[in-house]
Amino acid sequence: MHQELQHCPLCHSGQFRLFTTSKDYSVSGETFSIQQCQNCDLLFTNPRPAESELGRYYDSATYVSHTNEGNTLINRIYKLVRHITLRQKTSLVEKWSTKGELLDIGCGTGHFLAAAKANGWKVDGVEINDGARKQAEAALGQELHKQLSEIPLTRRFQVISMWHVLEHVYDLGQTFTLLKDLLHKQGSLVIAVPNPESYDARVYGHAWAAWDVPRHLYHFSQDVMHKLARKHGFAVKEVRPMYFDAFYVSMLSEEYQKGKKAYANAVVTGARSNLWARNHNNQFSSLIYILQHA
Ligand SMILES: [Zn+2]
Repeated sequence: MHQELQHCPLCHSGQFRLFTTSKDYSVSGETFSIQQCQNCDLLFTNPRPAESELGRYYDSATYVSHTNEGNTLINRIYKLVRHITLRQKTSLVEKWSTKGELLDIGCGTGHFLAAAKANGWKVDGVEINDGARKQAEAALGQELHKQLSEIPLTRRFQVISMWHVLEHVYDLGQTFTLLKDLLHKQGSLVIAVPNPESYDARVYGHAWAAWDVPRHLYHFSQDVMHKLARKHGFAVKEVRPMYFDAFYVSMLSEEYQKGKKAYANAVVTGARSNLWARNHNNQFSSLIYILQHA
């Protein structure tokens, strides 16, 4: 059963228009509509699966973390990119916060938590996928949480990070209320999301891999992220590009569009996306937002 939202999850307006449609290329093959709020411009997947139904849309090898098998060129590049991006992530976090407690929501197999822990952070994590969470727990040598609601509201984190997670969250308002409570007064919220106003989104249209319906329930532009932050008493302090996402998203989009892998095209489009964004208001494929209490 799908659920059709009658009110905008951000501003509660009831006026929407159809923005585009996209297909679930990785699991179900179903087509979903993406609607845009006429008042605040939020893009959201609507109708969307009921919360109890969402689990079956994650039943795919695509969503199981990389198992570090094989020594193919792609795998070697993947590991190198992961190494570079982990260093960028930890240095960004450390630019904005004094070292203390860090919570990573949607921590997957725990690579970012392990990097932060190695840098002296006291870490905690939330991961709904049992397999991924157990792997993270084994790597870190500590227990983590299945749900954000398991974390006592008395705790305060210097950093709460969500790397490509906010677009998957079912109840946006409720999640932000929890984040606000759990974040230290001087703390930083680090939110990475795909950008529907990027060059690669324009080039691939319906086949843009980062629509990723119905797993992505919201599709945040920069303007909307600022509105969302303001609504919940936060201010956006910095917006940073994620250069590698342009290549990764282009690689998947090529496959969705043409039914086969096309690495050369993906590299060209990824590079064009990054170059274009430099002259177009930082509209990179994915962006990292640093939010602090306003
Ligand atoms: Zn709205």
